[in-house]
Amino acid sequence: MRAIVLDRPGSFRVAQVPDPTPGPGQIVVKVDCCGVCGTDLHIMDGEFPPTPYPITPGHEFAGTVAAVGPEVALDLPVGAPVAVDPSLYCGYCRRCRSGRDNLCENWAAIGDTVSGAFAEYVAVPAVNAHRLPDGIDGQLGAMVEPLACAVHGLRRLGPLFSDSIVLTGAGTMGLLLLQLLIHSGAGPVTVVDRVPDRLAVARKLGAARVVSGLAELADDRFEIAVDATGVPAVVDGVSGLLDRGGRLLVFGVAPAEATMSLSPFRVYNDEITVTGSMAILRSFAPAVELIGSGAIDPRPLLSEPLPLAEYGEAIHRVRTGQGIKWHVRP
Ligand SMILES: [Zn+2]
Ligand SMILES: [Zn+2]
Repeated sequence: MRAIVLDRPGSFRVAQVPDPTPGPGQIVVKVDCCGVCGTDLHIMDGEFPPTPYPITPGHEFAGTVAAVGPEVALDLPVGAPVAVDPSLYCGYCRRCRSGRDNLCENWAAIGDTVSGAFAEYVAVPAVNAHRLPDGIDGQLGAMVEPLACAVHGLRRLGPLFSDSIVLTGAGTMGLLLLQLLIHSGAGPVTVVDRVPDRLAVARKLGAARVVSGLAELADDRFEIAVDATGVPAVVDGVSGLLDRGGRLLVFGVAPAEATMSLSPFRVYNDEITVTGSMAILRSFAPAVELIGSGAIDPRPLLSEPLPLAEYGEAIHRVRTGQGIKWHVRP
């Protein structure tokens, strides 16, 4: 089969590699679509420490069951459409045993630490595969993974009332979070992004107000701030807009060494809550349901998928902020 092989950071090729065969408890998925996300840029640049090289990346994917290995008890017939949770947890470390699998001490993931889905086929544990309902194509199916991350983020934030919300960053994750917030009954959502095209999509998806910078909100206060940029200055700035009793969700991935200047007095006196959200925690099945039922419709975010040979072009388009969400169709 053909697959992207990243031999080392910055160096990839479209390679001919052996077809995977399913081991015990595994299925092989014929990949229909695989999304490119920020993590893929970090893997390309050698900035995602768990990744070994060479690797075939790709962790946001859907396709159809091509082969079923021994000891698979699930109903996953050949040809069934599936989306795959890329998370690989050990199940026995103290965090897994306390229900925090996403913080597993032995965390691994399909496409991040083992062969992923920028390939025609990929072998995965059958338990990671989720059947997709009829009418959900591979590109929509590949949106389940990022949506599952957003679902976990909303759970981390806690119950929503009619809180006013400011959301920074209108890329894929920001716009999925926007849709989920509205679906969950949040109050008016103000979206901040520098890119006018993204703000137009945010408007279309239900943002009450869109602005191009935090300076425009200097006189506003919000009950909830959600950051989907990972830019330390933006996280810092938006936390300054929290009203008393406010909650901050840090969803975007900031550089590991960055710090912010949140006032401890404010955290005490105003009862500010700061919450982080990392990847997926038992949130894949609800994300399948949300997309399958049409409650969340990611189609306004999508561009026409590119072929595997244009993987480099897909990476370039994500890096340069063209469009919103790019997929590769092997
Ligand atoms: Zn991703
Ligand atoms: Zn573990």
